[in-house]
Amino acid sequence: MATTLQKFTCMGCDAPCCREIVREVEGITLGLLLTRRERMRIERLATMRGHSIDIRPMIGFGYDEDIGEPEFIGFYQITNNPCPFLAGSKCEIHGQRPLICRAYPLVMRDFYITGEGRRANVHVVISFDLRCKWVEGIRKSVKLTRLRDSDIVKLGIKREAEAMKSVVDLFVKYMRRYRYRVWYFDLSKDKWVEIEVMEVRERG
Ligand code: SF4
Ligand code: SF4
Repeated sequence: MATTLQKFTCMGCDAPCCREIVREVEGITLGLLLTRRERMRIERLATMRGHSIDIRPMIGFGYDEDIGEPEFIGFYQITNNPCPFLAGSKCEIHGQRPLICRAYPLVMRDFYITGEGRRANVHVVISFDLRCKWVEGIRKSVKLTRLRDSDIVKLGIKREAEAMKSVVDLFVKYMRRYRYRVWYFDLSKDKWVEIEVMEVRERG
């Protein structure tokens, strides 16, 4: 029978999760992911609280030949460091925070496809944010480079995994719809960068 370790609990460190939402990962600078639906809601919440917030496109799909850029924007990003909703060490919109914050300390690490053409399958690798103090405590119990189904039970992180699944489902849907072409908007270069989608051969 699986043993449940200590469920995800914020250990109250200096909150890199909310203080450093804009950062460079593998050469691309990105902020905090918002779905298309969340964008409007988060903008409204910021206005209601008198916060200045900068929201820009984050992940695009497909290719528009006329402009040489993605044809569809699937996700947006908050580009302020720290997050405008961080008050002291607390989130002032905790009950209404974006999906990606609900999924924390899980992060989307990578993606690849198997199969070809319309039948290709998209695989998204989920792992843990190594900056989180709670993650430090589980280092010895799970493989931190990839979340496995057994970890969800073992760690008692069903809610976090469900929130991440909602983001991943949208990502996969957009990838399929837009012919597996994916772009990130790099904040440091102030331009779209197309990502080379890795194709992995299935065994057998
Ligand atoms: S919305 Fe809240 S939980 Fe998410 S980064 Fe901002 S302060 Fe942190
Ligand atoms: S990084 Fe982890 S432990 Fe630190 S404040 Fe954020 S959730 Fe809490």
